[in-house]
Amino acid sequence: MFTAADEYGIDLSIDADRVERLLSVTPADVDPADRLTFARNVFVPLTTACRYTCTYCTYYDVPGEASLLSPDEVRERCRVGADAGCTEALFTFGDEPDDRYAAIHAQLGEWGFDSIHDYLHRACEIALEEGLLPHSNPGDLTEAQFAALREVNASMGVMLETTADVDAHSGGRRKTPGQRLNTIRAAGRRGVPFTTGILVGIGEGWRDRAESLLAIRELNERHGHVQEVIVQNVVPNERSDFAKPDLATMRRVVAMARAALPSEVSVQVPPNLSPAADLVDCGIDDLGGVSPVTDDYINPAYEWPDLGGLRAVADAGGMPLRERLPTYARYLPNDLRPAGVDPAPAPTNRDGWIPPAVRDRIRADDVHGRRLRGVARGDGPLAVRGD
Ligand code: SF4
Repeated sequence: MFTAADEYGIDLSIDADRVERLLSVTPADVDPADRLTFARNVFVPLTTACRYTCTYCTYYDVPGEASLLSPDEVRERCRVGADAGCTEALFTFGDEPDDRYAAIHAQLGEWGFDSIHDYLHRACEIALEEGLLPHSNPGDLTEAQFAALREVNASMGVMLETTADVDAHSGGRRKTPGQRLNTIRAAGRRGVPFTTGILVGIGEGWRDRAESLLAIRELNERHGHVQEVIVQNVVPNERSDFAKPDLATMRRVVAMARAALPSEVSVQVPPNLSPAADLVDCGIDDLGGVSPVTDDYINPAYEWPDLGGLRAVADAGGMPLRERLPTYARYLPNDLRPAGVDPAPAPTNRDGWIPPAVRDRIRADDVHGRRLRGVARGDGPLAVRGD
């Protein structure tokens, strides 16, 4: 029996037999998907300050060097993204900057914000004003923080990475599996369509991978909010020499993800980091957010493929490529879901999955609303091709 760290009262236990069964899964045991999806996004790295120092991470900057985009810079990025046909403003963070980041806190104060989360709320409003749907990844949050931020987000996310205690997270300031699971649970309790995932190759073992996938499954069984699970391999970079997992490892772990999760939860690999064309027969059905206008700020040395590159992955699997919104179709209101997609059961918070500000943005009678509705229903001008 695996029991998650209970410092947050997670009360999550995974039966040992289920772990064993998942460990026996191979690519031959799963069916390929019947379509491959992606979302068109613009990256908005709101701040590179982070209270942690994960050893594989090149995203964070140390105090004194961390950046903070101004409201004008956020608006300009969103405008460029919307003009390029994006639907999603992907707000990336580290985790809440601690008090070592005095300059970041002073700047936020000067702009009239008490915290980075207050500022994120305003930045999401700017994205909505510019015609994009915010999807924020602000690290660990409490239920109260989700309650505020859900009002201006189409969906949100945080990587679980692993339920194991690994040295990659060690040091004086470290994120913990219990904290991440608590965040995923808090998102579910607040009815937030949610993206999470595992990071492969940071010192975890096969049993840890199985337990991580089953922990995500269990939280989704309670709240129905997990829309996709990213299976991301670590890549070498200037801060770490973790080896990129080999293809056989990725094929097996992707197949395990597909077998562990219910069919409505997508399994995603990032096509700029993973050999996606060699994984399409292992059950992936999504390539995540791909940007035509900005770099992958989390992994800046690894370029996004263009639409031709995404088509090549879909062709390798003999499946059509479809564009989607950051929010998966089953969470959208009736008038915005494509035909044939059943609605997700109502969230446990009874507030509905999509907040009024986001619904209004998609329904607006302007060029952005028309673009968003077209992508939502699968009949918009941005369909990659009519297959
Ligand atoms: S991986 Fe995330 S939490 Fe860890 S240091 Fe990088 S930005 Fe911070």
